[in-house]
Amino acid sequence: MTEQRMAFKTEVSRLLDIVVHSLYSEKEIFLRELISNASDACDKLRYQALTVPELTGDDPDFKIKVSIDAKARTLTIEDNGIGMSRDELIENLGTIAQSGTSAFIKGIEQAQKGDITQIGQFGVGFYAAFMVAQMVEVTSRKAGTEEAWCWRSDGKGEFSIEEEEKSTRGTTITLYLKQGEDEFLLEDRLRGIIKLYSDHIALPIMLGDEEEPANCASALWLRGKNDITQEQYKEFYHHVAHAFEEPAMTLHWKAEGKIEYTGLLYVPGMKPYDLFDPKRRHGVKLYVKRVFITDEAEGLVPPYLRFLRGVIDSEDLPLNVSREMLQNNPILAKIRQGITRKVLNDLLKHSENKDSYATIWENFGAVIKEGVYEDTEHRDLLLKLVRCHSTHDGNLTSLADYVSRMKEGQTSIYYMNGDNLDTLARSPHLEGYRARGIEVLLLTETVDDFWPAAVSTFDDKEFKSATRAGQDLDKIAPLEKKDDKKEPEAPADAIGSLIALMKLSLSDKVKDVRTSDRLTDSAVCLAADEGDIDIHLERFLKQHNQIRSPSARVLEINPSHPLIRRMAEKATKDGAKDALGDIASLLLDQARLMDGEPLADPEGFSRKLGEVLSKAI
Ligand code: ADP
Ligand code: MG
Repeated sequence: MTEQRMAFKTEVSRLLDIVVHSLYSEKEIFLRELISNASDACDKLRYQALTVPELTGDDPDFKIKVSIDAKARTLTIEDNGIGMSRDELIENLGTIAQSGTSAFIKGIEQAQKGDITQIGQFGVGFYAAFMVAQMVEVTSRKAGTEEAWCWRSDGKGEFSIEEEEKSTRGTTITLYLKQGEDEFLLEDRLRGIIKLYSDHIALPIMLGDEEEPANCASALWLRGKNDITQEQYKEFYHHVAHAFEEPAMTLHWKAEGKIEYTGLLYVPGMKPYDLFDPKRRHGVKLYVKRVFITDEAEGLVPPYLRFLRGVIDSEDLPLNVSREMLQNNPILAKIRQGITRKVLNDLLKHSENKDSYATIWENFGAVIKEGVYEDTEHRDLLLKLVRCHSTHDGNLTSLADYVSRMKEGQTSIYYMNGDNLDTLARSPHLEGYRARGIEVLLLTETVDDFWPAAVSTFDDKEFKSATRAGQDLDKIAPLEKKDDKKEPEAPADAIGSLIALMKLSLSDKVKDVRTSDRLTDSAVCLAADEGDIDIHLERFLKQHNQIRSPSARVLEINPSHPLIRRMAEKATKDGAKDALGDIASLLLDQARLMDGEPLADPEGFSRKLGEVLSKAI
């Protein structure tokens, strides 16, 4: 078959442009990317050969070879891994196979705002070759097949593919170096790069005609902690996580006892773009006795630790374990338990370092809180990891610190859900808490609508939403005010009449009307009854069409507010119902607005407001 030319997918062309011009400050990392791919290719074949040994045949020792031809000015990276068929060459090197196009485009946009490190998550690895090469040739023969194909491109919008001779399986990549890139023709320079970035690769990387590999060639995670430098840990993180930044935490341990495995896991320094994408890639690779098995082991880590990256190498799983066999596998379940406990305990230790932990929490707190909700077994540990904003100060607080600041007589942990901290801080619901110096946790993430109710207690203190009615605020003494000019309350019988009248005129729009302990400055607010669904959660469910009509709320009124006092005074007089009906309805709308609720009837609201205003003039 003769040569065939094809165009890159649009997004590849754009990517190539960015890679070549701005992605990496260190051009030399192209070699790391190509070696990393070669190593992945060997891992894949090693796994397949477990069930089909013929695939590796008489060449069972995997290796990577890097060689130079100074005269031709080419650099070649060769592996005896799984190789690629014609279709795979086109698919893997001509499109962005890994990430959905939309996520990719989003990444590009971020990259153009200067945040280019993000793009490392998209598997641009191979294209890094075009930073130093004017032409790249990939000749590949898939293990178990006879034919070989050559993919060739100058990285400018097109590539070609044609049949070729190749006597051995695997992939050979030849870079025709650009002018000015001659440093990559020097063996010493290449040895330095391999040592720096690829030392942890578990296969020998042979340079030129040398007898000894240029790297350590043993699995990094099996070396002793003392034999590994920070730099090596970091490079391995870059390799497994496709990341560029410093990891926030590195966990390296060996579990001994009934179940034996080695873990080398990282908490990333940045939030992966697909943290909430159900189709996201798995971050933890499963090895069995040093053989790569899969990076799709469902159930290796719990879903709420899905931000972890790294490697687990098991001694107990059978080598011929298939991906299907891993489902509901009891050994895997034990490993997951071990990983979970290790990670949570290490996070807890790490949380003593407030600043560093705050970054981890900012990136992954929303996901960890899913665990508080889902994982009852580790709930106590997870609750110790939780950090929340609160009315105490601008910083995040732990639940233990909250409890240590609880007021005399306070028996519950109060929280309030809302869309953002600003609206929450202004909410009338908080007035009574503020007046008593009671701290309220301010929760703004979707998952916050679920976990406090599910947990019910921390340190024997019950979680209570500050928006519920009938709370025990009266048991806690208000703070002494310096200029204490507390407004007098309206007389009880007048308030009684006002409440009766408001109930009558608002009828089924409210569940009840009551006086409030929680209000100091506002006239009214809406509250959920004990046992009712939380207001913010209800709105969330409504947005997701889980419920249709909102439930009626309790309207709380502030008996010391001047407006309520005037209304109470009027309520005992003749004709009160006509005079106060519109005002009651307006107050209800006002309370809804303060909660960020839309008005049920904007037209009625405007008309009533107009009438009340014109009477007032
Ligand atoms: P990533 O490594 O993140 O998947 P790359 O751009 O580095 O992204 O590589 C794209 C794909 O090309 C790989 O996923 C793999 O399928 C294929 N590939 C690249 N290099 C090789 C190789 N040496 N042998 C076999 N397949 C390869
Ligand atoms: Mg790669």
